[in-house]
Amino acid sequence: MSPDSDTLALYAVSALNSRGRQHAVEPSHDRNPFQRDYTRILHSRAFRRLQGKTQVFSAADGDMFRTRMSHSLEVEQLSRSIARQLRLNEDLCAALAIGHDIGHPPFGHMGQDVINGMMKGHGGFEHNHQALRLVDELEGCYPEHLGLNLLFETREGLLKHCSPARARTLGDVAVRHLDGTSPPLEVQVVDHADAIAYLHADLEDAMVRGILSAQDVRDAPGFMAAWERTASKMRYRDLKLPENEDLSDQAHPETQRMGRATLQAVIREMMSTAMNDLIVCSRAALVEAQPASLDEVRQSPPLIGFSPEHLARHKALRKFSRERIYDHPEVSRVRQVQAQALRELFCAFVQDPSQMSGRRWVSDGTSKADVHRAVADHIAGMTDHFALAEHARLRLEAPHLLAPLAVMETPPVRRSRAMP
Ligand code: MG
Repeated sequence: MSPDSDTLALYAVSALNSRGRQHAVEPSHDRNPFQRDYTRILHSRAFRRLQGKTQVFSAADGDMFRTRMSHSLEVEQLSRSIARQLRLNEDLCAALAIGHDIGHPPFGHMGQDVINGMMKGHGGFEHNHQALRLVDELEGCYPEHLGLNLLFETREGLLKHCSPARARTLGDVAVRHLDGTSPPLEVQVVDHADAIAYLHADLEDAMVRGILSAQDVRDAPGFMAAWERTASKMRYRDLKLPENEDLSDQAHPETQRMGRATLQAVIREMMSTAMNDLIVCSRAALVEAQPASLDEVRQSPPLIGFSPEHLARHKALRKFSRERIYDHPEVSRVRQVQAQALRELFCAFVQDPSQMSGRRWVSDGTSKADVHRAVADHIAGMTDHFALAEHARLRLEAPHLLAPLAVMETPPVRRSRAMP
């Protein structure tokens, strides 16, 4: 069973133009190859652990915020919607969407920045590359091979970013990062769906967390225009935008419910506008370029994108989120505490790899670089809770491993410009 060629466009990835898997598999009677990749990722340990990994706000802040897993499922929903509208391979989009963040360590982008700093001189660390390592090597539930044996196009799509130096070591799957060709449209779709999902979700979570007040949310680029469209709808004509109302957990329940629900209705409108703009503009770009094959897509400039007007608003919203949410003093303070714990954990495991729980450490013939990579893999797989629990365990059982932190090279963490 394969995606129906009657419904897929010529420029979509399909079973006919896929470069296949490294290891041949018997055909499935009930799933096409792309649905198979989706379920392989869905059933992986790496995907399960996303439920305990920070998106922006830590689980310690409460249990109502997005995690990496809920974010990934929201990206899946948006990606599927776009793919259906453009006659792209919805199953490949879904697989890429639920897999796009599986390489993330605990504690959001800060976790990546800490591990990358600790891996300086040992090959560095980047979550897209880690996602590829997970599906190619580290997931171990198939007796006949390492990894998940995913399709070339799924692996290629998971490697969203890659430095030229690393790309030269990865072969065909990274060649687009060297020759400047475009990825399949399905990869471009998921990339945009990711940004649409997190930019709007983060506004909502920041509002619920109290990082943004009802007044602050009004400053978000596109918010007031979306409010006017929302209020013009028949069902919302009696709606009033909250001004100075207290929407915190201490507020009167009805005031809080109505205030938050009104702001959420406007944020939904913002997201809907972004989705419509992306679909309309991408469809127009495809009509104009008329790619007749996947190869022609690869030779074309990116064809999935916003209108110039919406792109400007999108960039302004990213800037707003960086300044008002991700760099908010409260978010930064929590990040610094978590960064210190992660650095100490990394140093402790490098000094004594046998402390890595759940992993039998075989030290014979292991080079220093291999030890660092093993520690990076181990910590990157942790949920936020497990990382903190391991740190607390070492404080009790092996405090000497945490103490000499100052004598090891511990680069300061600067938050990368990468977004959630
Ligand atoms: Mg994401």
